[in-house]
Parts: sequence; structure tokens; C-alpha cells
Amino acid sequence: MFRAVNSFNRILMANGMRNFSALVQTKALVNGNWVNSSNNDVFEVKNPANGEVIGQVPNMTVADAQEAICAAKQAFESKEWRSMTAKDRSNLLKKWHKLIEQHTDEIAEIMTAESGKPINESKGEVMYGNAFVEWFAEEARRIYGEIVPSGAPNREIIVMKQPIGVAALITPWNFPMAMITRKAGAALAAGCTVVVKPSEDTPLTALAVAKLAEDAGIPKGVINVITTNKAAPIGDLFCKSPDVRGISFTGSTEVGKLLFRNAADGIKRVCLELGGNAPFIVFDTANVEKAVDGAMASKFRNCGQTCVSANRFFVQEGVYDKFVSQLKQRVEALKVGQGQSCDVQIGPLINKMQFDKVSAFVEDARSKSANIISGGKNIPELGSLFYAPTIITDVPPTAKLYTEEVFGPVASIIKFKDEAEAIQKANDTRRGLAGYFYSDNLQQVFRVAKRMEVGMVGVNEGIISAVEAPFGGVKESGVGREGSRHGIDDYVDIKYICMGNLKYD
Ligand code: ADP
Repeated sequence: MFRAVNSFNRILMANGMRNFSALVQTKALVNGNWVNSSNNDVFEVKNPANGEVIGQVPNMTVADAQEAICAAKQAFESKEWRSMTAKDRSNLLKKWHKLIEQHTDEIAEIMTAESGKPINESKGEVMYGNAFVEWFAEEARRIYGEIVPSGAPNREIIVMKQPIGVAALITPWNFPMAMITRKAGAALAAGCTVVVKPSEDTPLTALAVAKLAEDAGIPKGVINVITTNKAAPIGDLFCKSPDVRGISFTGSTEVGKLLFRNAADGIKRVCLELGGNAPFIVFDTANVEKAVDGAMASKFRNCGQTCVSANRFFVQEGVYDKFVSQLKQRVEALKVGQGQSCDVQIGPLINKMQFDKVSAFVEDARSKSANIISGGKNIPELGSLFYAPTIITDVPPTAKLYTEEVFGPVASIIKFKDEAEAIQKANDTRRGLAGYFYSDNLQQVFRVAKRMEVGMVGVNEGIISAVEAPFGGVKESGVGREGSRHGIDDYVDIKYICMGNLKYD
């Protein structure tokens, strides 16, 4: 084990990073023990920027996942966890928050090594992800019930919120830490215990954060982490196991629908944060410079690999030329490269599947007469997963770039004439996660904000995620909300207690 960690560190250092052996875990976490998979199988974790294998983690089996569920159930029922007050749980989360804060740089380096994310963005994610731990440490003490005036004499109606039990958390690679803390923070605040199944592309960040949870004194079995590259049977187990009371998933719409269907039998609590197809509308009334700033932030952060990234830019005739030329200038100035250099703004795509998808979408648009005015090609000299930041205009509604989420650094631009047309086009999708528009006309701002069929609207703003605000979608983009005070709801049952025959006189 010692030798494995050392050789892992050598590779990480060769990838431009310092020695941080204490946080690099190469085992999964079940019931407070760092373990191999029961059949000793492992899988490799690669740096998408150069294809180098940076480590290996256990390839846990369904039986191992079952063990993790049992551990979480036992921990949930344990006196140690049950007898904790909200304040106790809050204090544990605060300790976890403090430790993550102290290890920001190390976690960010691990994140960049396994996801390719530019290091400054990785640091930003650690801070953002950690803000959920802090937020839910605060919220833990405010999970209020109600006393409702009764219609009957000598009776009291008491409503309390109780933790649902074991929650299974399935998370993606694009925010390897924040998607875990946004779920686990809320679950622990409510008094639940969890089994986390991180993405096979980014298990090391998950394990590092879990190690800090252990160091913070979070009792054994409360957080379990199952690493695997065979997600489907384990997802199926989460859906079928009567001991799992809730599933929280962030990822593709396709897998989300599958989990939703499979969880129906057990009537489980399901929170789904799925894909979007975000419209970004620039009206003639907009401040174009600000709109270009917002477009850059929304589209090119994390190489376009966020579910709230703008997917279709609708730009009104009067500002179209100005917007496109300013955006082109900014896009062509982006620095693409290996994530650990501080000046890099665009890293590689996460894996070959994503790379092939982005390339295919661009080729599809090209074949349908769209205009590629910037990029539109890979950058083999940087590595096999690098794709140039791209701008495509005149994207027709039949193009995949228009109908589906590209999840890459490609801005598709469509010209429109009037507000009604923009709203109709923006809403012409089965997805409804985020939407953005730029306008300095107050009447238009309220009109359009209300008409957009999305869960989150950015008005004159391209980055909208915040721990205090409810994150989530409408239509096929998901159910439930994460973050904010609503983020607790999926982890609590509402219980009504009828106190009868009270003697008041
Ligand atoms: P993406 O296309 O962004 O990788 P996925 O939905 O495939 O999105 O992955 C998100 C998370 O869901 C990852 O942790 C992945 O391992 C997991 N996953 C993939 N397929 C399944 C499945 N059938 N059941 C449960 N989890 C799954």
C-alpha cells in the first residue's frame, strides 16, 4: 500500500503536482474501513490531458455495494448517530468544512489530475463544493416542524421532519467534489447516512473528500464510498434494495430516466439533476459587452462540460454582428492546455466518448450548412482529447447542436427577429434546466423570466449556481432541488403526530 501510494505520487508529481500522499486514497470506504473490492479487481484512473494512468482504485462489486448499504443502515440505526442532536451534526459538518478548506490546494490538484479541469477552476470548485458543507452545517439546525391549530378541541397537530434513512448518491465527473457535497451535506444535516457512487472518471477526488470526513470524526458507516466502473448493476441494486430509501443522481437524462423507472417499484425518494439545453438570449435591449462576458463564463467554464452551460445562443438582429464579433475575439484569445498551468482556461474533454460526441455534433452542423467561424477542429498537438473552442452560426433546428446538449466548448448561434420568436425557440425543447437572457428593459425582464420553461434563470448573468439558491430543472431536466433550504427536502419524511384527548381544563 505504502509503495502504491508512493509510486502514485511520483506520477502525480510528474504531472506537475506536489506530494500529497495523505489525501490520495486507493481503496474504497465501507463502514469506516478502507477496503479493496471483494474480488480484488481494480480499474485505472487516467489524466485526460495526457492519457497517463495516475492511479487505480477498487472495482467494487454488487456484493460490496450491498455491504456498504448494510453499513449505512447500521450506522443510521446506531445509537451514536441517532442520538446526535442537530447541533452535533452541524458541528461535525463544520469540522469537515474546515478540513476541506485547509486542503483546498491538494484536492484541486487531484481534481485537475483526474478531470483535466484547469487548476484555477478546480480550486474554485473546491470552494464552491465546500460552501455546501458549510451551508448544510447551518441548515442542520433549522429543519423546523410545525404546530398547526387543530380543528378539534383537546387535540394538537404536530408536524416533524425526520431523516429518511439510507440515501444512495450517484455523481458525475464534471464536478467531482461539489456534486458529492451538495448531496451528502444535505443528507447528513438531515440525519441520513449515505452510500456514494462517484463517477468512474473521477473517484480520487471523492475518496479524498471522504478521507477528510473521516478525519473530521464523522462516525463510521455514515459516509461510504463505492468506486466502480460497472455502474449499472450497482445502480440497479440501489433502486431495488429496500434498505435504500432515497436516490439522488446527477448525470445524463438517459440514466436518470432509467433510475426513475427502476426506483418506482420501491416508491423511493428520487432527486434527479439531469441534462439541460440552455438557451442564452441576447436582446437588442442588452448591454452587449456584459452579454459577451456572460456567454464566455456560461459556455466555456469547465470546457463547456456543465449541465447549465449555454447550449443555444439566440441573438436579436440589431446586436447580432456586434455580439458575434466580440465573442469571436474573446474565444480566439482563450488559452487551451494542460490544466495544471495557472493561465490555462480550457482543458481537455473528459474522455473519448465525449470527444467523439462533440466532434460528431460539429460535423453534423457543418453538413447541414451551419457556418463555423472559429475552431471546429481538434488540437492533436496538445493531446487526443483537446477540442478547439468553437463558434458556429446559422445552426439549423435540425442540427444536433440545436436539439441536444453538446457538453463541450462549442457555441451555437442563431439569429432571431422578435421576443416572441426567441421565447418560442428557447422553450422548444424537452429539457428545462437553466436559461439566460440579457436585456436592460425592465418590462421585458419580467415578461421573459416568467415565460422561460426552466428551473433557473440568469438575467444579465452567466453564472448562476450558488449554495443559497435552489438548483434544479423542470420538464425532462429533473425532479427535486439541491442546495438552498429546499435541498434538505429530499432527505426528510414529514411526520404528522396527532396528540388527542388532551385535558386543558
Ligand atoms: P455522463 O454521460 O455525464 O458520464 P452518466 O449518466 O453516464 O453521465 O454518469 C453519471 C453517473 O452515473 C456516473 O457516476 C456513472 O457511473 C453513473 N451511471 C452510469 N450508468 C448508470 C446506471 N445504469 N445506473 C446507475 N448509475 C449509472
